[in-house]
Amino acid sequence: MARELDADVIVVGGGPAGASTAHSLARAGVDVLVLDRASFPRDKTCAEYLSPQASRILSDMNVLDEIERSGPAHLAGMRVRAPDGHYADGEFASNHGFHPFRDYGLAVRRTILDEIVLNGARAVGARVEELARVTDVAKNHTGRVSGVTVMAPEGEARSLTSRFVVGADGLRSVVGKRLDLTHTSRFFPKRLALVAHYRNVRDVGALGEMHVDHKGYFGIVDVGGGLMNVAVVVPMSRAREMGEGRTEFFDQWIASRPHLAERFVGAERVTDVRATGPFATASRPAWAPGTALVGDAADFFDPFTGEGIYAALRGGEMLAPFIVEALRGAPQKENRVLAAYEKARRSEFGGKWKLERIVGMAIAYPYFLNNAAKALSRRKEMADLLVGVAGDFIPTGLVLNPRFLFNLFISPAFRT
Ligand SMILES: Cc1cc2nc3c(=O)[nH]c(=O)nc-3n(C[C@H](O)[C@H](O)[C@H](O)COP(=O)(O)OP(=O)(O)OC[C@H]3O[C@@H](n4cnc5c(N)ncnc54)[C@H](O)[C@@H]3O)c2cc1C
Repeated sequence: MARELDADVIVVGGGPAGASTAHSLARAGVDVLVLDRASFPRDKTCAEYLSPQASRILSDMNVLDEIERSGPAHLAGMRVRAPDGHYADGEFASNHGFHPFRDYGLAVRRTILDEIVLNGARAVGARVEELARVTDVAKNHTGRVSGVTVMAPEGEARSLTSRFVVGADGLRSVVGKRLDLTHTSRFFPKRLALVAHYRNVRDVGALGEMHVDHKGYFGIVDVGGGLMNVAVVVPMSRAREMGEGRTEFFDQWIASRPHLAERFVGAERVTDVRATGPFATASRPAWAPGTALVGDAADFFDPFTGEGIYAALRGGEMLAPFIVEALRGAPQKENRVLAAYEKARRSEFGGKWKLERIVGMAIAYPYFLNNAAKALSRRKEMADLLVGVAGDFIPTGLVLNPRFLFNLFISPAFRT
């Protein structure tokens, strides 16, 4: 007799991508089990700001009010400081007939956000098992994914079976790796990020800040509760120079830049400096028979544009109906359904993938970023448009066209 399944769908990872997928599946009546190696609340190395459109999904998940009650900061937009010292400010303002869900983004500690979001999935019936580390993916005799191997903290392994497995296990996804779905490329930036939280940094306002120079970029954002998230992102090649001294490196970064140093006089670092990297990965396609990837497990390029959480939430919301269709349809149609998921992902995120690469190039070549900051400081409507695209409520097509890109990166060099 066939063994009873442990769930219709096993979701590996209970971060924003896994929670959003589980929420949509559970709401559609699917029996879903989320497995996460961590115990929540758990931290995640991140700059912790969310685009305005993330609030739309959090509202649909019925968790936005609780997040608002937790005391997040409200972000009006973004400020970029170019290597030559030019500043450009863009706001999350209605633009070209497009309106954000809210005219501000949220910034909130991941220890708070992720637990609330995962509880949102629990509230609609998803089962969640914490401290459950997935170590492998099982396949049946046809090669189709049929479950996972889970390790409890005490070290004993269990096999769990399901009709479908979702890999929402973030960067370095075990599901992606075991099925050979994820890859990095030598053309992807290899960067290392250091993140810490401070109190009493001076003059931190309602704009998230990015300070770019020849060595990397530095972000400051108010995340509510009197805390500021402070991040340094540098090429991986500098990791050797850093050695074990990541805190000294971080302190030195601030101390050696007068425009930052003066703002950290009297500031207090209240968390350890956490490090992560390299982080650029992609999967093409993000599925195999019986499984699909979502969130960072499927794609992540660079944190500069700050859209990973939105992409994770949106990815889960998009993936769930395809899984429901695959589970309810004839088995031989499953591959066609999952190919349609891949197509939907490209249509949803393809423009963003291009934009992230263009921004990544501008960061690596200060000439272009200096020009862009000049253009954006002179023409606020261009800055708002770009921030609206990064804020996920304006289509990328409005900036991914030769005219906008010329006006951004090239023409300021011909104007004094
Ligand atoms: C330095 C940095 C700064 C960033 N700043 C921002 C920002 O400001 N705004 C923004 O929107 N995005 C930002 N991002 C990106 C953002 O953090 C991610 O895109 C987002 O967390 C992706 O969500 P996820 O659910 O896919 O993955 P995660 O949030 O990483 O969740 C994955 C979950 O899977 C679990 N897991 C992993 N492996 C296993 C396993 N084997 N078994 C079981 N469970 C497992 C983990 O415990 C975790 O809970 C930043 C990223 C970096 C690196």
